[in-house]
Amino acid sequence: MRFINRRAFLKTTAATAAFAAVPLKETLFPQRSNPQAHNPIAIASGNGPKALEKAMELMRQGSDALDAVVAGVNIVEDDPEDTSVGYGGLPNEDGIVELDAAVMHGPSYRGGGVAALRNIKNPSRVARLVMERSKHVLIVGEGALRFAKAHGFQEENLLTDKAREAWLKWKENLSTQDDWLPPHTIDDRGVGSMYRDYFRYYGTIHCSALDQNGNLSCVTTTAGLAFKIPGRVGDSPILGAGLYCDNEVGSAGSTGLGEANLLNCSSVMIVEWMRQGKSPDEACLLACKRINDRCREKRLQDEEGRVNFDVKFYAINKKGQYGGASIWSGGEYLIHDGAGVRKVEFPYLFRRK
Ligand code: ASP
Repeated sequence: MRFINRRAFLKTTAATAAFAAVPLKETLFPQRSNPQAHNPIAIASGNGPKALEKAMELMRQGSDALDAVVAGVNIVEDDPEDTSVGYGGLPNEDGIVELDAAVMHGPSYRGGGVAALRNIKNPSRVARLVMERSKHVLIVGEGALRFAKAHGFQEENLLTDKAREAWLKWKENLSTQDDWLPPHTIDDRGVGSMYRDYFRYYGTIHCSALDQNGNLSCVTTTAGLAFKIPGRVGDSPILGAGLYCDNEVGSAGSTGLGEANLLNCSSVMIVEWMRQGKSPDEACLLACKRINDRCREKRLQDEEGRVNFDVKFYAINKKGQYGGASIWSGGEYLIHDGAGVRKVEFPYLFRRK
C-alpha cells in the first residue's frame, strides 16, 4: 500500500496553483476511521441525517448494509419537503417528475438501477427489484414504470404544489436557464447558463454503509437535474458513475453535476484508487481533480480555467475508514459511526470566493 506523498501529489497536479490555496493540514488526507472497529458505519450526503439514523438502527439489529441504506433513503424519498429526491422532487422541463436511482450490493456483487421513472416515489426500491427480480441491471422510462407496477407499486402524482410552483417560476422566467445549447465550439464561453450560480440543480441522496458482517452496499436516488430535458438520465442510476461498491475494497457515490461523473466514471475510479491504497479522502479528491483536469469546454470553466460547477463524493473502505471531497469548498457530508450523526467538512479542490 503506497500513500501518496503530499509533495509528489502537488507536483503532479495540473491544478497545482489552485490546489496550493487549500489549507493543506485541514483538508488533505487525514485518516478518518470508525473508532469501534467491526461496528457498522454509514456515510451520506448532507440531506441524509434521518437516512443514517435508520440505516444504523437496522444494522445494529443485524441488517445487511443494502437493507439498511435503502430503508434509510426511503425516508428522504417519501419526504415532500426534500425537492431533490422522490415525492416532491423538482420536475423536468415539462413539469413531470422523473426519478433515477441505483443500488449495489457488495456481498453478491450485483447491482440494479432505474432511470427516468415517473409516478413511483421510491425508485431505490424498484432499482433493488431490477437487481433481484430481473436478469437486467438497468431499466428506464415506460419499461421501468411497468416493471414497478408489475411488482405492486402504486402510481401516484409526485408533483407537489411546492415543486410545481418552483417549476412554474422557472418556466415563466426562461432565459438561458435551461439545458438546450445553440451551435457552439468547445472554446465558446457564456453559452448556456453557468452551473455554479445555478439555483436549480443540486440535490440527490447517496448512502454507503458497512454492516456488522463487514459487508458493503450503497444506493443513490434522485429527481435529477431540476427542469432537465425530458428523458435526461444523470449519473445516479449508472453504476460506476453515481455510485460503485466492491465488497473487497470500499463503496463510493456522488451528488452534483451528473454529466461530469458520466464522463469520468468517478465512483468506480474512487473504488479503484482505494484498492491501490488511497484513503477515502485522497480517492475522492483525485476524482475531483480528474473532472477538473479533463474539462475542455470553456462554457463550463471560470476565468481561471476551473470548472464552474460542483461535484461531491462520499466513500468508505472495507476497514471502516471514511472520507469525501468536493470540487468547491463549503459543503459537508454526514457520517454515522455508532456515536450519532456528525457533519464533516469536505476536503476540496478550490476555495469558493
Ligand atoms: N447527480 C444528480 C444528477 O446529475 C444531481 C445532483 O446530485 O444534484 O442527476
